[in-house]
Amino acid sequence: MTMDWVDLRSDTVTRPTSAMRAAMLAAEVGDDVYGEDPTVNALQARLADELGFEAALFVPSGTQSNLLALLAHCERGDEYLVGMDAHTYKFEGGGAAVLGSIQPQPIVQAEDGTLPLARVAAAIKPVDPHFARTRLLALENTWHGRALPLDYLRAAGDFARAHGLGYHLDGARLFNAAVACGVPARAIAQHFDSVSVCFSKGLGAPVGSVLVGTQALIDKARRWRKVCGGGWRQAGMLAAACLHALDHHVARLAEDHARAARLAAALAGIDGITLLGQHTNMVFIDVPAEHLRALDAHLRAAGIRISIGYLPTLRLVTHLDVDDAGIARTADAFAGFFARA
Ligand SMILES: *Cc1c(COP(=O)(O)O)cnc(C)c1O
Repeated sequence: MTMDWVDLRSDTVTRPTSAMRAAMLAAEVGDDVYGEDPTVNALQARLADELGFEAALFVPSGTQSNLLALLAHCERGDEYLVGMDAHTYKFEGGGAAVLGSIQPQPIVQAEDGTLPLARVAAAIKPVDPHFARTRLLALENTWHGRALPLDYLRAAGDFARAHGLGYHLDGARLFNAAVACGVPARAIAQHFDSVSVCFSKGLGAPVGSVLVGTQALIDKARRWRKVCGGGWRQAGMLAAACLHALDHHVARLAEDHARAARLAAALAGIDGITLLGQHTNMVFIDVPAEHLRALDAHLRAAGIRISIGYLPTLRLVTHLDVDDAGIARTADAFAGFFARA
């Protein structure tokens, strides 16, 4: 018998629902390298339209989507400004540097995930052969679950234009940000020149990200996708899952956020746990480092998986496959452990 895990490690662990699988099976498909997959084309057209862009490109992963955006915005010897803890800089294998000869200029983020614009301005290089050419400002939203303030997104966009910089958003969790801010995703996306959106996180699709931008930017990205080995064929079966997610899994993100809030409140009341914060579908807690191993074993015995390393800070992530009973089981298991610890 397989255990019915409550898996709080990430929102990437969701499995497609039976309705999503049915949509995938029914998808009309064609060869997408020829631009002939009707379901891929429908997904691209729909997301471009919903987010207010000319064009879109369906790709296998968020890492590839961000990489293609960087390759499309920047040339060899150019530089992009990016948060010190941003996914595109820190968690994507240095792809822009490895494959594009694009230099990252990391900027220390503020507590709320914004890049303070005075700090960004100070990092822009003069036009001079000594320096890489500063070409792009890249943000991330949500960042560690935090939805960036809408007025900051606008101000940073004005700043980017004033300095002749492109403006890219790693919107892996764009829809979580939109739901948290109570605005359509377009209200966030509209400030940017390009946006990458993941379907394999909170939206619950098995595979896929979409990059949106101008037609010229997407044409470049499409070429780079082929170069990177990402040209795919009957990908419509995957695009069908993403279309299904747009129809059925966006508004429900509010449930994930509410469950994260309830879990945070329950954990905050337990002696031994320090609640650091809860933002959208993520809860951050500190537990004494000496308890980590035993806590992990205790939770696993109760059918709960969390990511445990050697740091006392834990991130718990809610998603489509975590229900109210799962939240209750998790709160009880933590309480039980710390009652004995
Ligand atoms: C998950 C994620 C990505 C890309 O992820 P893939 O695993 O490559 O699909 C990019 N940015 C952020 C913030 C992410 O959380």
